[in-house]
Amino acid sequence: PLILGIESSCDETGVGLVRGCELLSDQVASSVAEHARFGGVVPEVASRAHLEAMTPTLHRALDGAGVKLADVDAIAVTAGPGLAGALLVGVSAAKAYALALDKPLYGVNHLVGHVAVDQLEHGPLPKPTVALLVSGGHTSLLLVRDLATDVRLLGDTVDDAAGEAYDKVARLLDLPYPGGPPIDRAAREGDPSAIRFPRGKWGDGTYDFSFSGLKTAVARWVEESERSGSPLSVPDVAAAFQEAVVDVLTRKAVDACRAHGVEHLVISGGVAANSRLRALAEERCARAGIELRVPRPRLCTDNGAMIAALGAEVVAAGLPPSTLDLATDTSLPVSQVLAG
Ligand code: ATP
Ligand code: MG
Ligand code: FE
Repeated sequence: PLILGIESSCDETGVGLVRGCELLSDQVASSVAEHARFGGVVPEVASRAHLEAMTPTLHRALDGAGVKLADVDAIAVTAGPGLAGALLVGVSAAKAYALALDKPLYGVNHLVGHVAVDQLEHGPLPKPTVALLVSGGHTSLLLVRDLATDVRLLGDTVDDAAGEAYDKVARLLDLPYPGGPPIDRAAREGDPSAIRFPRGKWGDGTYDFSFSGLKTAVARWVEESERSGSPLSVPDVAAAFQEAVVDVLTRKAVDACRAHGVEHLVISGGVAANSRLRALAEERCARAGIELRVPRPRLCTDNGAMIAALGAEVVAAGLPPSTLDLATDTSLPVSQVLAG
């Protein structure tokens, strides 16, 4: 079946089309530039941008796949988690199309979509797989026995998400928003061992994460260098901060695989685009005999194809469609693949 996926949980309006694990098209319109001067996503601005972008993005996706709206067999949409007003735009559009086409509607979980998207690049996810989800709002370790029916939360951040830490540290270093890409670039010129920043919850026996102490340590370092008048090496601070983040992420991900006897790890979400995370995960997985899957960077950040990919799984599993009174859920838990 041909699945249409609609994403609008944050600042990307995404529409994708898939057939099973085959990616037919993926169109994204981002309002990130409109938020940059505020240093974070402004919900009202995001909602308005989704409204304007939704229909043109849908048409570009259909054109890209060479299909017509009437060819679509089912519609999947992000029902949560995310920003209330932003989610509402996608869910309303999806309902309208489902009603007009008389096709089933599935309100799905954005976070599980981040994991499902890997199937479009590497084929069916082995069962079970451990997933490290690292995004702007989440840092979670998941045990995925089945994408449609069995996703378990092993651990989560107790404070900031990894992407949030990148964004906050970028601001401390006067780098632009969103902070992940400029820190990734700056770090390549820096020495990760120049400064030893704290590794939150290192070796505490849980699969939880903490990044607020690290962020505070970077803030103190920046203040101290201002006070003492010694020049601040942005590349060194970026590299040392990044090393602290990816060291804990990869260690806990590999530990989770070992503890659950799982030989496959998938890393996804916006921070999975990070070059150092990809390199260190590759190294540690190879050493531990774990097969690592990381989707290409474009698929790691928010898009509609990831929602279509999860929709395809849900349809294949024969789960019941959502009704037209499907509600958005800003804090939908990751274990709940289908909303409502
Ligand atoms: P969520 O999925 O939790 O709702 P989100 O959808 O806003 O949050 P994503 O779009 O998956 O998050 O990811 C955005 C985050 O990824 C931002 O915090 C951004 O700084 C970070 N990011 C993007 N590229 C990189 C990179 N190369 N290195 C590190 N972080 C990155
Ligand atoms: Mg975004
Ligand atoms: Fe996301």
